[in-house]
Amino acid sequence: MIVKTDIDTIEAYLTDASNLKGKSNKLIIPENKDELKTVIKELFNQNQNFVISAAGTGLTGGRVPKDDTIISIEKLNNILEINPEKKFVRVEPGVTLNQLEEAISLYNLFLPPNPTEKNSSLGGNVVNNSSGSRSFKYGSIRNYVEALEIILSNGETFNLNRGNNFADGNKLSLITDEKSQYNIEFDEITPPNTKHSGGYYLKYNMDAIDLFIGSEGTLGVISEIKLSVAIIPEKVLGLLVFFDDEYNLLEFTEKIREKSLITNKVNIDTNSDIAARLIEFFDEKSLDLIRNKYPQIPAESKGAIWIEQEYSENFENEILEKWFEIISKYSLLADSTWVATNEKEHNNFREFRHQIPLTVNEIISRNGMRKIGTDTAVPSYNFREYYFYVKEKLTELQIDYVVFGHIGDSHLHANIFPKNEAETKKALDFYEMIMLKAINLGGTVSAEHGIGKIKKNYLKMMIGDKGITSMKKIKNILDPKNLLGKGNLFD
Ligand SMILES: Cc1cc2nc3c(=O)[nH]c(=O)nc-3n(C[C@H](O)[C@H](O)[C@H](O)COP(=O)(O)OP(=O)(O)OC[C@H]3O[C@@H](n4cnc5c(N)ncnc54)[C@H](O)[C@@H]3O)c2cc1C
Repeated sequence: MIVKTDIDTIEAYLTDASNLKGKSNKLIIPENKDELKTVIKELFNQNQNFVISAAGTGLTGGRVPKDDTIISIEKLNNILEINPEKKFVRVEPGVTLNQLEEAISLYNLFLPPNPTEKNSSLGGNVVNNSSGSRSFKYGSIRNYVEALEIILSNGETFNLNRGNNFADGNKLSLITDEKSQYNIEFDEITPPNTKHSGGYYLKYNMDAIDLFIGSEGTLGVISEIKLSVAIIPEKVLGLLVFFDDEYNLLEFTEKIREKSLITNKVNIDTNSDIAARLIEFFDEKSLDLIRNKYPQIPAESKGAIWIEQEYSENFENEILEKWFEIISKYSLLADSTWVATNEKEHNNFREFRHQIPLTVNEIISRNGMRKIGTDTAVPSYNFREYYFYVKEKLTELQIDYVVFGHIGDSHLHANIFPKNEAETKKALDFYEMIMLKAINLGGTVSAEHGIGKIKKNYLKMMIGDKGITSMKKIKNILDPKNLLGKGNLFD
C-alpha cells in the first residue's frame, strides 16, 4: 500500500477534466483488492470520509476531494479473464478503455458503446454509466455490465450478477458476502426518455446491479467488473457527409435515425439496407476550427454528419448505393462525401473527430479560462426545437463556440470558449438556459458525463426534491456514515 501526504504528489489528484479543484491531505494507493478492502475498513472505523480516484477524466468533479482522503485505484488495473467463447471479460476497475480494447481486439472482440476518452477507467465508466459514439445502436455501458463486485463504505462486499436479484416492486434485498442484509424500499424515479446519466437508477422490479451503475461513487467502490463484449463485425462502412444546408442536414438525420432504429434489429448477414450504428454531428464552426488541418472540407459546408454501419461484404455495393441515393437527396455536396471501408480510413475519420475536442482544449488553455460545455439530450421528437434554441442563444451570446456530438441520440455538446471573466459569466448563464430548456422538453441535464459536484442543482431541478430524497434514503442505508463520494449527486 502506498500512502502519500506530501502536497506535490497529492496535487495531481485534486482535480479532474472539469478543472474543479479540491482539498485533501492524504492519498492512499492500494496495490491489490485486499489492500483496498483493508483501507476502506480502516477509514470506516476512523469515521474518515474518502473519495475514489480513477483516471481523472471525469467532467463533473466527481473524484475531486472535499477534504476527503483520496483512494486511487490506479494499481488495480489487471485484466483477469478474457473469455472469447462466452464473450465476456473480467477486469479490475482501474483497467482503461485503451488497455481493454487492445487486449480484446486480439480475440476479435470489442466493447460496443465506445466512450471517447480512452484513458478513462472501466470503474469510472460503470459508475458514470458512460456512453459513446456507438451508443446510438448499442446503448450505454449499463447494457454490458454482467456482474459487479462492490465494497461498501464499511468494507463489506456485494457480489451481484445480472439476472439474479430483482426488486419485488420497490423493495430490494441485498446480502453481503459477510451475510449482512440490507433492505431497501425506494421511491421510483422516472428517467427522461433519452440517453441519461443522472442519479440512481430506481425502477420497480429493477435488477439490483443497476442501482450501482451510474451511482457516481456514492454507494460503494467497484472492485471487479464483468462485461459482455461482442465480435468485431465483418465490415464497417464509414461516411463523412457534408451539407450545404442546415435544414437538409437535420431532415437527413431524422430520416436515417428513424430507418436505422428499425434496420439495426436485422442481422448484418442478411441486411442489405442502410443501418447506422453511429450518427455524429459537426456544426459549421466545428468544421471551421479544423479547416486549416483539413483543406479538403468543402468550402460551402454548413455542417457534417459522420455515419458508421456494420455490414457483410456481400452487400457492400448495394448498401453504398442506398446511402448515396439518400445523401444525394439531401445534400448538394454528396460528391464530396468521404468514404471509409478499411481500418486506415476509419482511423483517419477517428482522427478527424478527435481533432475537434483537441483544438477546443488548445483554445481553452490559450485563453486561460475553463471550458463550458453542455451534455444535454432531449427526446428525438423535440430535437429540432432544442437545436434551434441552442443555436439562437449561442448567436446572441457572441462568444466563440462549437457544437458537435451524438445527434443520433439527440444529444449534443455545445462548447463555449470564454476569453475573460465577463464572457465566462455570460457562458454560465447560457449553460443554465440550456439545462432548463432540456428539462422543459422532457430531456436530461446529463446524457453521459454524470452530475458529480458541478451539476447538482440541475439534477434537483430535473428530478425534484422527491427524487433527491429518494436517493438520499438509499445512501443512508448503504453508507450510513456518509463517508463515500461526499458531495456527489446531492449534498
Ligand atoms: C476528452 C474527453 C472525452 C470524454 N468523452 C466521454 C464520452 O464519450 N462518454 C462519456 O460517458 N464520458 C466521456 N468523458 C467523461 C469521462 O471520461 C467519463 O466520465 C469516465 O467514466 C470517467 O472515468 P475516470 O476513470 O476518468 O473517472 P474519474 O474522473 O477518476 O472519476 C469519476 C467518478 O467515478 C468515481 N469512481 C471512479 N472509479 C470508481 C470505482 N472503482 N468505484 C467507485 N467509484 C469510482 C469517482 O469517485 C468519481 O466520482 C470524456 C472526458 C473527456 C476529458
